[in-house]
Amino acid sequence: MKPRLVLAGVFPLLLTLLASGCNPTPRRYPVTIDASIVGGLNMVEEYLLRYRLERAIDSVTTYFDEPFKDTLRVFIFEDGRPRAWDRRIYLSRYSSRSTEIIIHEVTHAVLRPQGSSFAMEGQAMFSEYQFTSKRVRLPALFQFGYGGNGDTLMPLKYFIDNDTSYWANDKVEALGYSEAGSFYQFLDERFGREKARELYRRGLNEIEPTYGMSLDSLEGEWRRWLFGDASRDTVKVL
Ligand SMILES: [Zn+2]
Repeated sequence: MKPRLVLAGVFPLLLTLLASGCNPTPRRYPVTIDASIVGGLNMVEEYLLRYRLERAIDSVTTYFDEPFKDTLRVFIFEDGRPRAWDRRIYLSRYSSRSTEIIIHEVTHAVLRPQGSSFAMEGQAMFSEYQFTSKRVRLPALFQFGYGGNGDTLMPLKYFIDNDTSYWANDKVEALGYSEAGSFYQFLDERFGREKARELYRRGLNEIEPTYGMSLDSLEGEWRRWLFGDASRDTVKVL
């Protein structure tokens, strides 16, 4: 490998370690990485990927109080949309370098299935914000729904009742992901981690007994939060 290539590889590694305060991952997790289809990863790429995967597993399983069992199996492809289920993650070369995408897919892979795309995408999008210090990163909400009054947002019930909306068209899909992530972020900020864990254990159908409020009331509160405090963060980040 040429010196310049080595530097190009080492530099992001140093940046990542500096950004994490040089704290190594607190625990090691069984993770296998299969990159044979793309001809393998170099040592730095593999180290960075494993590092991000292990930090993501640690953060997500700690937040949701879900013990990590078995082995997480990660496959790298040349391109394609990232996917994950049941302790398996499929990443493109590009997405294997994205902290946000890795955290998103790890959330899907290590949590129990929820029987609801809204719940699963909400958890995964929330994890992205929660564990990358990007407190509100909602470009789709900004682009499609942020007009000061939320008129162009779609009711949460639409996404909860129509699971297929997550494969509809770009606009509906982008709104679905962003609204779900934003709603889970709101629930965390307003009601805390213990309630989030309870909702995860009970499932989205039990949201009303979990929070002692109707979905409509929660949605109203979420919209006020979204166009109040959270909107200032959104503008700042964008
Ligand atoms: Zn997802």
